[in-house]
Amino acid sequence: MKYDIIVAGLGPAGATAAYELSKKGFKVLALEKQKHPRYKPCGGGLTAKIENILEPDFKSVVERTIYKVNFTFRGSGDTHIKSDHPVVYMVMRDVFDNFLVEKARASGAEIHEQEKVTHVEETKDNVLVTTEKNTYSASLLIGADGVNGIVARSVGLKPKKKTAVLIEGEVNVKETAFNKLCDEILFDFGSVPYGYGWIFPKANHLSLGVGGLKKKIKNPGPYYSEFLLNKNLLNEIESEHKFGYTVPLFNGRSKITSLRTMLAGDAAALVDSFLGEGIYYAVRSGQIAAEVSQEILNGNNTIASYEERIAQEIFSELHYARKIDMVFYSFPKIGYNLLKKHPDFYEQIFDVVSGKAGYKQLWNKMKRKVVIETLPFLSY
Ligand SMILES: Cc1cc2nc3c(=O)[nH]c(=O)nc-3n(C[C@H](O)[C@H](O)[C@H](O)COP(=O)(O)OP(=O)(O)OC[C@H]3O[C@@H](n4cnc5c(N)ncnc54)[C@H](O)[C@@H]3O)c2cc1C
Repeated sequence: MKYDIIVAGLGPAGATAAYELSKKGFKVLALEKQKHPRYKPCGGGLTAKIENILEPDFKSVVERTIYKVNFTFRGSGDTHIKSDHPVVYMVMRDVFDNFLVEKARASGAEIHEQEKVTHVEETKDNVLVTTEKNTYSASLLIGADGVNGIVARSVGLKPKKKTAVLIEGEVNVKETAFNKLCDEILFDFGSVPYGYGWIFPKANHLSLGVGGLKKKIKNPGPYYSEFLLNKNLLNEIESEHKFGYTVPLFNGRSKITSLRTMLAGDAAALVDSFLGEGIYYAVRSGQIAAEVSQEILNGNNTIASYEERIAQEIFSELHYARKIDMVFYSFPKIGYNLLKKHPDFYEQIFDVVSGKAGYKQLWNKMKRKVVIETLPFLSY
């Protein structure tokens, strides 16, 4: 049987693409190697701009709505900022991803779980997707199989990325410690070379961790322990589950389409290298892949336009996030001081997370002040 579209991988990118396409009436097969709900190491922070692209029912799986952010440097120097509007929605990824998958299923996508894609072959007329169980044929393939996906490799694509290594802890702490931390998200600069530490509160526990560039830190383990020590949390822990994982940070425009395949989400390295945010871009690229697939299948477009659309909307944004990350992670003290000394950035940051402005505007506002802050260091 031939499908219109096969989607490989059912994280936020694949589940969104499968939902949008089956809603439009296409014959969709979605293949996932695990079984939902499944744990995914992730802070689970959805910046408020997700509201602009998801239907409002996603709020049914939000564990906490956050209005406050705290920035610290190596564990101290709290800088609390508060917004009148939601800044971040906190989810657990097993629940959030399962919610998206069930929407795709309800709209008619054929979903095969515990079926791993092992090989892809493209021909002039179709794409053949082989799994551990079968081979399927479709007109188009959306590769949404994450950071270590097989699809990109099978079709000869290698999106440019900087790999970050992270440790995520799902941690229950004593009630007094939890109550102090539960209504704000925390970013700690300087706790890891070329990265940061975070504390993201969930309904009853903390998702916390550290992450930095793989080429700077081979093993984030010792930084994780030091982060907990600096935050005075070591004696507060009641239970802790730790997970290591990698994130493909965007590292410049690259080819993300082949003859019949489009890459979306982490498979295309669409992760903001400043905050490490990937869920928004996974969902949005899944939606764009669905829109372009519809146009191609109706004979009104070519696959190259997917890359153009991603370039206009996502690469351009991630390009400026890269400039900001270079300041914050090459010179974390300067980045932290910029935030501490210039409250006028806060509104701009809130505008970025809510989607009212982009990283380009934030960078344009920051760059003069970056030069001023950097001069004393350069004069030595
Ligand atoms: C520790 C950590 C913290 C993070 N915190 C945040 C955060 O707070 N906010 C944020 O926005 N982003 C965060 N991210 C990034 C975010 O998790 C990813 O960008 C996001 O999951 C990308 O979604 P995706 O759908 O592209 O890929 P994934 O979520 O990785 O989904 C890919 C799916 O494909 C499946 N798959 C893989 N290979 C195959 C195969 N061969 N066949 C079939 N199925 C396959 C996998 O099982 C998986 O279900 C974090 C990442 C890490 C590691």
